[in-house]
Amino acid sequence: MLIEENKALAPFTTFGIGGPARWYVEARTEQEIGDAAEWAQQRNVPLFVLGGGSNLLVADAGFGGLVLHVANRGIEIEPGGDEAVFRVAAGEDWNLVVQRAVAGNYAGIECLAGIPGTAGGTPVQNVGAYGQEVSTVIERVRVLDLCEGGIVDFGAGECGFGYRKSRFNTEDRGRYAVVRVDFRLRQSGAPCLRYADLQRTFAGADRPTLMEVAEEVRRIRRSKGMLLVEGDPDCRSAGSFFKNPVVREDAVPRIAARAGEEPPRFPGGEAGLMKIPAAWLIEKAGFRKGYGKGVAGISSRHTLALINRGGAKARDVMALAEEIRGTVEQRLGVLLEREPVLLGF
Ligand SMILES: Cc1cc2nc3c(=O)[nH]c(=O)nc-3n(C[C@H](O)[C@H](O)[C@H](O)COP(=O)(O)OP(=O)(O)OC[C@H]3O[C@@H](n4cnc5c(N)ncnc54)[C@H](O)[C@@H]3O)c2cc1C
Repeated sequence: MLIEENKALAPFTTFGIGGPARWYVEARTEQEIGDAAEWAQQRNVPLFVLGGGSNLLVADAGFGGLVLHVANRGIEIEPGGDEAVFRVAAGEDWNLVVQRAVAGNYAGIECLAGIPGTAGGTPVQNVGAYGQEVSTVIERVRVLDLCEGGIVDFGAGECGFGYRKSRFNTEDRGRYAVVRVDFRLRQSGAPCLRYADLQRTFAGADRPTLMEVAEEVRRIRRSKGMLLVEGDPDCRSAGSFFKNPVVREDAVPRIAARAGEEPPRFPGGEAGLMKIPAAWLIEKAGFRKGYGKGVAGISSRHTLALINRGGAKARDVMALAEEIRGTVEQRLGVLLEREPVLLGF
């Protein structure tokens, strides 16, 4: 296990922003993840678990602790009847997992194609897109307890999954390193076609294959700058910078009155709650795609993605985010919540 010092973190993030880590280690096995955690504990050094860096904004001054880069690999497939369990090492590339699933005709994650990052990062904010959420197929999350030591298995019901949340980014934030995730997928299952654009594409056609749906999702994502494509400046981001706010139903008329238009909305997960697209709120507050004169701006293809146009600092992104948040609150009375994780602020 090689502990490096003053390691630049920007190259490990999709934003390409941030100062160095005081210490850094790439842990390629479960044993190394444990050893690195012990190293930090013995020295009383703060620890941060890094996956693919695709939901992360690192401060310009960096981080004064140990960055533990989870890089264990491997996918084991355990077939059983019309389902299979994919046991995936946390450091595995998420897109490879989706690729293996759709190529083997296993349904359940085809709409999550094109989301960057690692398999171990997916339960943390319960990633979701185009009508699917990873929590619906997670069977078990295996973690290393960074406080007490030892490996713990959490069943899906113990993970506290909700919209962009789990116990790992709420009450237990920073306590566990995910070392493996088990996904239960359906052999030859029907693809999820809940999203309107997907329904339109495949309307009237025979049932598309899982591979075709995953490909279409990637195509849509690419058109919005939400796919990592070398040389595309619109994807130098952390994806959506804000979550879609969930508001009480009785707040909707007030928002409509301020916006001068009925907001689009969806069920908010519980009775009496509605989810409003953050992109709509941001546009109604006066921000357009491509907004921003400096090095940090709004993507030219998606209002929700803040991007590094080249040479942006974390402080530039934070200033832009604050401007957007403040204006949306002032004009529409809705408080936006940030989605990416901050490190070193
Ligand atoms: C272009 C683009 C599009 C995106 N689209 C979507 C989308 O459609 N839907 C969506 O939900 N997200 C989306 N994201 C956000 C991001 O890709 C996901 O949240 C992803 O799952 C983050 O995984 P990661 O490995 O990169 O985590 P990181 O960014 O490295 O870390 C994020 C958080 O997870 C924690 N973490 C990561 N790995 C582990 C681990 N092994 N153990 C414990 N904690 C860990 C970190 O400590 C940190 O708190 C997008 C991002 C980009 C750049």
